[in-house]
Order: sequence, then structure tokens, then C-alpha cells
Amino acid sequence: MHYVSTRGSAPVLTFEDAMLTGLARDGGLYVPETIPQLSAGDIKAMAGLRYEEIAFRVMKPFIGDTFTDTEFMECIERAYAGFGHDARAPLVQLGPNHHLLELFHGPTLAFKDFAMQLIGQMFQVALSRRGDRVTIVGATSGDTGSAAMEAFKGLDAVDLFIMYPNGRVSEVQRRQMTTPSESNVHALAVTGDFDTCQGALKDMFNDHTFRDEVKLAGVNSINWARVLAQVVYYFSSAVSLGAPDRAVSFTIPTGNFGDIFAGYIAKRMGLPIDRLVIATNQNDILHRAMESSAYTTNGVKPSISPSMDIQVSSNFERALFDAYGRDGNAVSQLMDELKQGGGFKISQGAMQALRDHFDSGRCDEDETTAAIRWGLTHTGEILCPHSAIGVHVANQHLAGSPMITLATAHPAKFPDAVENAIGVRPPLPTRMADLYDRSERLTEVPGELAALQAIVRDRINR
Ligand SMILES: *Cc1c(COP(=O)(O)O)cnc(C)c1O
Repeated sequence: MHYVSTRGSAPVLTFEDAMLTGLARDGGLYVPETIPQLSAGDIKAMAGLRYEEIAFRVMKPFIGDTFTDTEFMECIERAYAGFGHDARAPLVQLGPNHHLLELFHGPTLAFKDFAMQLIGQMFQVALSRRGDRVTIVGATSGDTGSAAMEAFKGLDAVDLFIMYPNGRVSEVQRRQMTTPSESNVHALAVTGDFDTCQGALKDMFNDHTFRDEVKLAGVNSINWARVLAQVVYYFSSAVSLGAPDRAVSFTIPTGNFGDIFAGYIAKRMGLPIDRLVIATNQNDILHRAMESSAYTTNGVKPSISPSMDIQVSSNFERALFDAYGRDGNAVSQLMDELKQGGGFKISQGAMQALRDHFDSGRCDEDETTAAIRWGLTHTGEILCPHSAIGVHVANQHLAGSPMITLATAHPAKFPDAVENAIGVRPPLPTRMADLYDRSERLTEVPGELAALQAIVRDRINR
């Protein structure tokens, strides 16, 4: 199995190298050269299996010979052992033809644990075999950083630094980043906002001397291995509802288009998926693009669903690559236009290709609050604001095949928005009820490249 860049001019890599590299050298994103197929019989045989067994069958064709079967299965088992639900990704029913896929039973209560826990294990096995180690630096507005901390803590082949904007993440998110006590993970509270953190991260990657010196690696949502791990729950949930004999649709609360792109891969592998519905908050670049063919940035408006507050949607490039017939030059040109002029027009042919798979909807702030209330009144479920956006948009797309809406975070992770909607403060699950009692460990740093680099150098050479 080989991986190619969406911009067509970076070296072709194995799964292992694509995973350890993250971003391609030509600025593109890695995608598999061909999409492996699972037959109706293969899918039928998943009925009733444990999540881990389905995960093995779905991901195995993508990893080539990077891991032996035993190694890979052990990575999967370790990745999900810490989840608070034996089904890992359970379904609950919201209405006659509408189901909620709960992806928040991992250690940091958001779906990002599914991918991050697994790549933590895969990095560790691949790096120890090479006798190598890496320094992972990430920038977060909340969920990615906490998921990475939990996934990489205690792994001896990795040092992890997470930069977050000081004072601008929720208390639960901050505590999840600052309470792990393992010495290889480091929470950096940076003076500035999320853009400061992301800018510093980019600068670190562009400083090639530093990059080589500390063996910098990235685990943001463009890493192919993260997308791959997310393909699994599309299979496990569809099979529970009767796939391959019955097709299903999905609605996905979307920011960087990683989670929904995983659904598209599941479909391309042969899972009968009818529609994939993009649900955005007021930062609706994807919804506007689907409606008008114009992909145009217009700034970020902070919302009560902060994990979907994005200016551009980085994984959308992967969908464009397929929509343009896998023409790396065409994608490269679009991305240049985006960089220079803040947007581009999607061609008619590509638009048609996108519409073959995707629908879209948008949910503003008031509608998000109303959807949290709707969930409680009509189903007894307490939804986080991101999941509520999914439910709002899904309710406008119910027809035909059963709808599965992805619940991307636990309501206790966003208690203020939930309390504001329904007057109830959702409690943390009992397994992490002591989060507020654990001691915190963080380093405050100015948002300047030199200061941040000095901390990284100093800590990895301890
Ligand atoms: C990251 C995140 C999203 C958006 O996921 P993408 O893969 O970026 O589309 C939605 N909800 C929550 C809770 C998240 O943490």
C-alpha cells in the first residue's frame, strides 16, 4: 500500500512513513494510492464482533507490512482498553429513523481519542523498532491537545509538547492537559490566541535546522493515520443497523473535515452509505462552498462549539483531490489561489462529484442552544453543543435510510453551553470525577518562536 500527496509532487511513501511524517513536503496531504475494497460478505461477517476486531479488519488493508498482525492487534487492544464503554462507540436511538453514535467514551471525552490513542501505540511500536524517537509539537484550541496528552503520556519513544492559548481553553480541557504527571508530556500555556500557537507551530516546522535537530513530528488532523482510525466506527455502527443489507446515512459535525472524510473512505471501501451530511456551525465555509461552489474564507467567529471554529477546513483538500480526478496540479493551483486571494471556485465537474456523496447544513448559535433543548425534551439525551449541531442538521435530512448522527464530545466537556441551554450542569463521568482535585503542571511561555524552541530543546535533553 502506497501513499501519494494531494499536490502530486512529494515522494510516494509507505503507511509507516506517511504516519510519522504527517504533512507532505509539497504542502499536500497523504492519501492511499488506491482504496482497498471490502466485499458484502466481509462486511456481513463483522456483525456482532467486538469493536477491536472490526477495527483490525477495516484498517489492516491500509497498513501494508508496517506491523505484523499480532503487533497491530496489540496496538488496537491497548488503544481502546481505557475507554469507559465496552462497545467503545455505542449507538442510542433518537427517533424512529435517527440514531446517535456516542464517540465520547474515551479518556478525554471527545472522538479524537479514537485516533489519537491508536496512533500513540503505533508511533511507539514503529519508533522503538527503528531505535528512534521523535518530538511531537502540537497546537490546540482544546480537544486535540488533551487527546494527544492522554495518548502519548508515558511512551518512551516520544516527547510531546502541546501549546494552548493561555486562558482561552475551557477548564476541563486545561485540566486534561495539565494533570498528566508523566515526564514526557508538556503543557505550554502560550501568551496569545490559537493563531499565535498555530503560527509558532508552522514556524517550528519551517525552521529546518530545528526540525531535524529535535526530530519534529506532527499529529494534527491531517495525519492520514488519524483519518484511518476514524473509518472504523462508520463500519461498526452501520453493521449494527443492518449493513450491508441496509444502507445508512451519516450526519457529521464538521470543522477540519477529518471525521467526515473518514466516512467517505468507508463508503469508497464498499460500505453502503447513502448520504454524508456536513454539519457546520456559524463558521460555515463548507456549507457555503456546497451551496455556491465558492470556497471563500471570511474569518473565524468564536462560537459555543469551539472545536468547529475554523477558518479553512484542511482535510477538505483530500475530498477535492478525488473530486478533481486525483489531479495534484489542479489541487495545487486551488491551494495557491486560497493562499493568495482567500478563496477559489470549485469547477462544475468537481462540484457534481462532491454532491454525489455530500449534503450540508449550518446551525447558528441560537439553533445550537435550541437543539440541546430539543435533545433533552424529545429524547432525554444531553447533547454537547457540537453533537447538537449534528442533530439539528440531521433532523432536516431525515428521509429514507436510517440516519446516524455522530456525537463528537461528552456534554460535561462544555458545561457552560449546556447549562445555558437546559439549566443543568452535566457531571463528569465517575471514572474522571477527580479531575478537579488532581494537581496541575504547566509552563507559561511568551508566544515567540525562540522562547518556545528553547523550552523544547531544554526538555528533550534533560
Ligand atoms: C475536532 C472536533 C470536531 C470537528 O472534527 P473535524 O474532524 O475537524 O471535522 C467536532 N466536534 C468535536 C467535539 C471536536 O473535538
